[in-house]
This record gives sequence, structure tokens and C-alpha cells, in this order.
Amino acid sequence: MATVLISGGAGFLGSHLCDYYVEKGDFVLCVDNLLTGSLENISHLFSKPNFRFYHYDITHYFFVEEEIDLILHFASPASPRDYLTYPLETMQVGAQGTWNLLQLARQKKAVFLLASTSEVYGDPLEHPQREEYFGNVNPVGKRGVYDEAKRFAEALTMAFHRKYGIPTRIVRIFNTYGPRMRLDDGRVIPNFISQALQGKPLTVYGDGSQTRSFCYVSDLVEGITKLAEVEYPHPLNLGNPEEISILDFAKEIIELCESSSTIQFQPLPEGDPKLRRPDISKAREILQWCPKVNRKEGLLKTIQYFREKLGL
Ligand code: NAD
Ligand code: UDP
Repeated sequence: MATVLISGGAGFLGSHLCDYYVEKGDFVLCVDNLLTGSLENISHLFSKPNFRFYHYDITHYFFVEEEIDLILHFASPASPRDYLTYPLETMQVGAQGTWNLLQLARQKKAVFLLASTSEVYGDPLEHPQREEYFGNVNPVGKRGVYDEAKRFAEALTMAFHRKYGIPTRIVRIFNTYGPRMRLDDGRVIPNFISQALQGKPLTVYGDGSQTRSFCYVSDLVEGITKLAEVEYPHPLNLGNPEEISILDFAKEIIELCESSSTIQFQPLPEGDPKLRRPDISKAREILQWCPKVNRKEGLLKTIQYFREKLGL
């Protein structure tokens, strides 16, 4: 039985990772300050003997008694609305939080896996995005707080790996969705689905020609848990390469929700990337991984979740 520490474990992705390792029979220490996460995401695990929750801010000094085999560092506001509301917390958890958990990994001789993001590519000038691409980030733009926190976290992870030989992993996650996303996190999927289910207009920012590529959460969890097992310290993209424009996506959601909602165009937020699509050839080769859940299937499950949340 391994011991796995998951920071941000009460968040959307972290809670699915808690489920995976608890189910597998490992001992899970979930650490979260509930800034953007929720106890509701993990309450079903409280009765499990191999699960423990620490309500804690990892930017403060952090030590645990237990031996730890694997640290999954997922703590960070992730939606643009959240990291613009909490710009300093975002920078601090990416910097000091990552530092604290890397120190812990060093003490415990644990594997350390950093949840990084496609945002390190900024508004990319290369398409699709390969891991070798250095990105096009504006450090002083609004999104800079998130992008640069994650870029610093990647640099720090590599520095600990090179200096102390810590077994580290860096996963660059592309837009992932599924049950347990917060209804009001401002991301496109909770917004569009809740709008469509309630018959309200879908708010498309800009002209909707910008693209994204959406990965269902179970595929991402499979990729991450595989990466934890493989000795690969370099950044690795995980996501679903199926790309769609936001305007077409809005129409798809209206159809899948069987809604009569209309589309309302609103201003494009500053720094909103025009294109985003992962090149996942490395993940295919190194992990023998590729996404299995197609968009329609994943969206129908997510719509069902939001329907229940909204009491519809
Ligand atoms: P989320 O907001 O649901 O989860 C983040 C969790 O971190 C929350 O539970 C929050 O309370 C916790 N947290 C924040 N600061 C903390 C601190 N100082 N100490 C302890 N806990 C803290 O977001 P998510 O979508 O689940 O994202 C999880 C991770 O994955 C983030 O690091 C994010 O950058 C990364 N990521 C997510 C996506 C995506 O599409 N969901 C894409 C790229 C990267
Ligand atoms: N978006 C939109 N309407 C919304 C929310 C988001 O058109 O109500 C767009 C947003 O401008 C971006 C894309 O959808 O181009 C994805 O946004 P999200 O906030 O989900 O994540 P991002 O990929 O920008 O980090």
C-alpha cells in the first residue's frame, strides 16, 4: 500500500485523483485550503479508512509524519475567473506551495508530480502545441499571474530534479471537464451548460472563432496515474486533440441539452488564447495513452451532473 499526498484534493481534478487512489487501496492524504474546492467533492471518502483530509494552506510550512511515496501537486486556482479573483494566492501557491511540496518530496524520497497547464504556451504561435514550444506569454498581462506561476513551478521542479535527483514529473494539462466542476467557476463548460439548461443565452466571448480541445476527466486521470509510474522528468502534454471553435461548441451544447437558448456575443477577455490543441504524440509513445471518451459522451455525463446540481 503506497501513501499518496494530493494537494488541491478537494478540487475538481484532485477529487477524482483521490477517488482513483482510494479505490486502488492506497492511503490518500488530501490537503486543501478550500479556496476554490469543496468538501462536497470528497465527502463520500470520509468514511474510508485509507483517506484523510487536512484543511491546510500548503503555502505555509508543511510537514506530515507519515512516509509518503507520491505527491500530486494540484493545488492552484485554475479557472480564469478564479485566478483573476485570487491573483496573489495563485502566484503564492505556484511558487511557495510548490517549493514546500518539493522539499517534502526530498525529505520523504517521494515521487513529485506537478499539475502544470497548457497556459504555459500562452497565446501560442505554434499549433498544435508540442512540449518543445516555449510559448508566447505576456508576464504582465492579467493571465500572467497563472501562466508565470506555473512556468516558475515547472522551472523549480526541474531545479529540484537536477540538484537533488528527486524523481519528478510535469504534466501540462489541456482543458479538462466533467462532474464536480463548480457551476460558477466561470469556465466555458459550466457556463454554457448551466445557461443552456436554464434556457438563458449562451455567452460567447469575442466572435467565438477561438478554439479549445476538451478532455474528459476519466481520460486525464488515466494519463496522470500512468505518468506517475513512468520515470519521465520532462513536461508531458495530456489532453484531447479534438479541437472545436467556441461558437460551434456553444451550438453543440445547445443541441445536447435539447435547449432553445440563443447565443449572445460578449467582449473577449484580455489575453484569451486564439488557438489551443495538444500534440500528444509523446504521451502516446511514453505512456501508451490516448483519450477514449469522445466529446458527446463526456458532455452528456457532465450535463447530467449539472442538471442534478441545478435541481432540474
Ligand atoms: P480547482 O479549483 O477545482 O482545484 C484546485 C484546488 O486547489 C481547490 O480545491 C483549492 O481549494 C485548492 N487550493 C488552492 N490553493 C491552495 C493552497 N494554497 N493550499 C491548499 N489547497 C489549495 O481546479 P482544477 O480544475 O481541479 O485544477 C487542479 C489543478 O490542475 C490546478 O493546479 C490547475 O492549474 C491544473 N489544471 C487544470 C486544468 C483543467 O482543465 N481543469 C487545466 C490545466 C491545469
Ligand atoms: N468562453 C466563452 N464564454 C464563456 C466562458 C468562456 O466564450 O461564458 C470562452 C473563453 O473566452 C475561452 C474559452 O471559452 O476562449 C475557454 O475558456 P475557459 O475559461 O473555459 O478556459 P481557458 O481555456 O480560457 O483557460
